[in-house]
Amino acid sequence: MLKDQFPQMKGLQDPVLGTKLHFEIAHGSFVQVLHDGSLHWVTVGNLFSRDNTVELYDSLYSSVPMSIKMQIASIIMTNERSVHVTIQKFQRQQGGVDCGLFAIAAATDLCNRRDPSTSNYKQTEMRSHLLQAVKYAVLLPFPSESVTVKSKTVKAVQVPLWCSCRLPDNGEDKMAECGGCDDYYHKTCASIPREVFQNNQKAKEWRCRDCVDTSQ
Ligand SMILES: [Zn+2]
Ligand SMILES: [Zn+2]
Repeated sequence: MLKDQFPQMKGLQDPVLGTKLHFEIAHGSFVQVLHDGSLHWVTVGNLFSRDNTVELYDSLYSSVPMSIKMQIASIIMTNERSVHVTIQKFQRQQGGVDCGLFAIAAATDLCNRRDPSTSNYKQTEMRSHLLQAVKYAVLLPFPSESVTVKSKTVKAVQVPLWCSCRLPDNGEDKMAECGGCDDYYHKTCASIPREVFQNNQKAKEWRCRDCVDTSQ
């Protein structure tokens, strides 16, 4: 729905794509609702940030789980060595079930160039607001009071990015360091032979594809 209302805004893709890391890469400003893989919804965007920094709006937690780091990396797909995630001040939900509403509320605010950090939503009215939006096919900012906050960033987290895939090390795939560029590569992404992980000498000698190409 937001995509129809804000066709120029990047992101706003089906969150299911994110859990499979199949997002289209967002060049420029984007807003995206993400699912963390365990029943929790959050919103990310980069409207108020410099390059390579992504704001996170989470109504429950003040940390960045690996599944969210992976999805953020897959959206921005940068050649930089890391992405910065700033956990923004965001209203805490009452109870455990309304994170989806808060995530949509944050995304709606961002699409309207409003700062979700300064919104104090009326939680009891959020569900009916969304139902109205579905009924009339127009999603307006959620009912809220504006609050002033001293500092909008609660915490900044640096997420190192590696390999040709420019994703974090999620611990699922072994990684080897290239002796040429000092970047680390996933075993499957770079088809690294098994000996590299078993033999110290082989590990030292291993070069990624780019470094092999440029040395020839
Ligand atoms: Zn990789
Ligand atoms: Zn290399």
